[in-house]
Amino acid sequence: MASYPTLNPFDGRDLRTVELMSAVAVEQRLAAAQAAFPAWSGLPLEQRGVLLRQVAAALRTRRDEIQRTMTREMGKLRGEALAEIEKSAAACEYYADHAAGYLSPQPIPTEAQRSYVVYQPIGCVLAVMPWNFPVWQVFRFLAPSLMAGNVALLKHASNVPGCADLIAAVLADAGMPAGVFAVLHIDNEQAAGVLRDRRVKAVTLTGSERAGRAIAANAGDQLKKCVMELGGSDAFVVLDDADLDATVAAAVKSRFDNAGQTCIAAKRFVLVDAIADAFVQRFVAAAKARVYGDPQDPSTTLAPLARADLRDGLHRQVRQSIDQGARALLGCEPLAGTHAGYPASILDHVAPGMPAYEEELFGPVAAIVRVKNEAEAVRVANDTPFGLGGSVWTGDAARGERVAAQLQCGAAFVNSVVRSDARLPFGGTKRSGFGRELAEHGIREFTNIKTVYVA
Ligand code: NAP
Repeated sequence: MASYPTLNPFDGRDLRTVELMSAVAVEQRLAAAQAAFPAWSGLPLEQRGVLLRQVAAALRTRRDEIQRTMTREMGKLRGEALAEIEKSAAACEYYADHAAGYLSPQPIPTEAQRSYVVYQPIGCVLAVMPWNFPVWQVFRFLAPSLMAGNVALLKHASNVPGCADLIAAVLADAGMPAGVFAVLHIDNEQAAGVLRDRRVKAVTLTGSERAGRAIAANAGDQLKKCVMELGGSDAFVVLDDADLDATVAAAVKSRFDNAGQTCIAAKRFVLVDAIADAFVQRFVAAAKARVYGDPQDPSTTLAPLARADLRDGLHRQVRQSIDQGARALLGCEPLAGTHAGYPASILDHVAPGMPAYEEELFGPVAAIVRVKNEAEAVRVANDTPFGLGGSVWTGDAARGERVAAQLQCGAAFVNSVVRSDARLPFGGTKRSGFGRELAEHGIREFTNIKTVYVA
């Protein structure tokens, strides 16, 4: 495959044919990254910070152009796209401000005259990124990594080539030195070759379990560091004392924003019997209000899925769950006459063995699991191969913290939707991956944590 088409998921129209880069073009970018690293890593942090602030400004300048491209390529609602661009700009500013603190040498008292830890950049990092937050996922890795002194190559998802090119244009607008960042339009086999190249020191992936297995195996074979941000099936645990108005509003937002294509979206709604009927009644009514339509139109509140094949795969999971006994309360049929439209959907009485219980539903389908009490809610929340996030909803914050402590995941939120935040570490356990992004934990992932000991 030397080229492939990309389609607008709202109307199915051809957007662009992407030519895969030749081996020569890939080699040029690898060589440029290698050449850029000494000067970039040698710049004082404050100067890298100045450039990151310019990147933030350039993102805002190109905001409308980037938004339209996101919406055209993967169907994101206009408002959601604009918020994502602003979050990315703010992350650049956050790391410009805080990287020096996160990376300052840490003295450790020993019997030596001086002993301490320094965080040194490692070189070129390959980033393999997904389409669902085509700007934020890139900056979540890129802003801290550039501040740490690394250079980066981006292999973006094949359906968002325009977003990748615009990110490169933003960095160029900001005056980023040549070679510090480049986009590779390559397929997965070529990406495997890039990871094997001795000039590439590490890889970060945000994506599916399937991609994670392939890339982590390659990184393992090369003994290269990798960070894996993979799928999730977050539980949204509602206890008997929850404020149902606030909880239902949060449930709808978490499940149906971004057409449900969010790794940390609430996917399994674990409801204790005492409130289950009341919650379900309000949840169905609120979800029904999500209106499918043109993602560029500000009145649309439910976007199309990013590709028709993803919609078809989601529907297979829904059908199979219904065949195994789940009850369709809302939606659950593809929207006729659309290219990749799926309505806000709710499945009740989801049980072990069904795809809606065991697998990630990457789309606007909520799976409801009814449980007797808090203890059973915790057991069900953890009864999944994933461990990305989870939330608990209760009128008693201390009770919420006790439940949060028992959730086997990378981020447990009480009375709040799970979300990423530049100040807080982000990542998963179990098959949701390993390693962390963001905060001091994330910025240090791609550094050499080096001990210095002066006897
Ligand atoms: P995907 O199919 O795994 O794609 C992600 C990236 O990996 C794309 O660039 C893709 O390239 C590449 N890729 C796929 N298979 C590969 C392979 N065998 N070798 C090398 N690269 C490969 O995932 P997606 O459908 O775009 O994204 C949805 C998944 O990402 C969901 O499971 C979601 O939960 C997860 N996700 C996780 C997080 C997190 O932070 N934990 C955040 C967002 C999304 P091509 O497009 O060229 O195939």
